[in-house]
Amino acid sequence: MNLNKFFILIAAAAVTSFTGCKGSSSADTSAQRSFSRDLFAMDTYMSVRSYGGDESALDSAENCIRDLENKLSATISGSDVSRINSGGGKPVEVSDDTAAIIRKAVETGSLTGGALDVTAYPLVREWGFTTGSYKIPSQERIDSLLASVDYRKIVLNGNTVTLPDGMLLDLGALAKGYTGDKVIETLRENGADAAIISLGGNVQAFGEKPDGSAWKVAVRDPFTPDNDMCTIEIGEKAVITSGNYERCFTGDDGKVYWHIIDPADGFPADNGIVSATIIGDEGLTCDALSTAMFVEGLEGACELWKNDRSYDMILVTDDSRIFYTEGIADSFTNLTSMPAEVIPVD
Ligand code: AMP
Ligand code: MG
Repeated sequence: MNLNKFFILIAAAAVTSFTGCKGSSSADTSAQRSFSRDLFAMDTYMSVRSYGGDESALDSAENCIRDLENKLSATISGSDVSRINSGGGKPVEVSDDTAAIIRKAVETGSLTGGALDVTAYPLVREWGFTTGSYKIPSQERIDSLLASVDYRKIVLNGNTVTLPDGMLLDLGALAKGYTGDKVIETLRENGADAAIISLGGNVQAFGEKPDGSAWKVAVRDPFTPDNDMCTIEIGEKAVITSGNYERCFTGDDGKVYWHIIDPADGFPADNGIVSATIIGDEGLTCDALSTAMFVEGLEGACELWKNDRSYDMILVTDDSRIFYTEGIADSFTNLTSMPAEVIPVD
């Protein structure tokens, strides 16, 4: 279970904590009512706060989350992903949501030379990250599982997905980002004027905060995950982090192993990055990139960013250095003693 805390700072308002499934509403200083709900879904704690409209927008948002979980989970039988995984190499018809995520997964896989590979699931499972029964697999076992990891073998034709028999996929690296996009869309359609949501620490905002100030978002310190590392101010953006602390275990050899696998060798990605945060317009893209950047390492991640620059990023290296992009420089506030520097454009 991922005990992510709520780490949105909503200006001077108290930080909301997760206390299970509950809802509340309150009168805001601007006379605009706000509504909030905490829930547990997709194996993580989530919080949705909306401004304006009425509480039914939150009901719709929660339904949207539950519906997506039932389509995207690799462990819920009958989900699109489970049906693909048990398809035995036959074409499987999936929802628009699942097809959109797979399309992005394949595109990002190709952009990152396979750093993001949603067919790494057999390895994620073997290391025990799906069940919590952690173990260090033998090299032999890793080699044999690596033979069935290759996102290029996913065939997507409209809404029809074909995965070769023996391969398995999991959309955990992109699902929460996509869900964030859909929750925001749902809140908008159901009358909210503004909202800020946290899906397991992935934050997304839309609209104007009632007091007119920017949304202030904190990013965790990967070395002491109970503490915030920095804050940034955002408009209608997603802020999505992949961190080594999110799901990890210490092996008999005393080494720490985490849930993001390097498809190049089948081991937890250990290329120098311990936390990668992507800030951009679309949750789906940010989520895909955060996982990929984590695997890429500092040099590869900076190279990818320089070729695009439509998003911002914050990287933390295992030697306690912070690197961030110029687009967030004005609002970036370092809360630690780690040195932080702006990534040069060339
Ligand atoms: P995130 O927290 O978005 O970085 O996603 C991490 C999750 O994605 C893991 O818990 C696995 O389910 C899955 N995963 C691990 N390594 C990879 C990888 N290299 N490519 C795609 N998905 C991965
Ligand atoms: Mg991700």
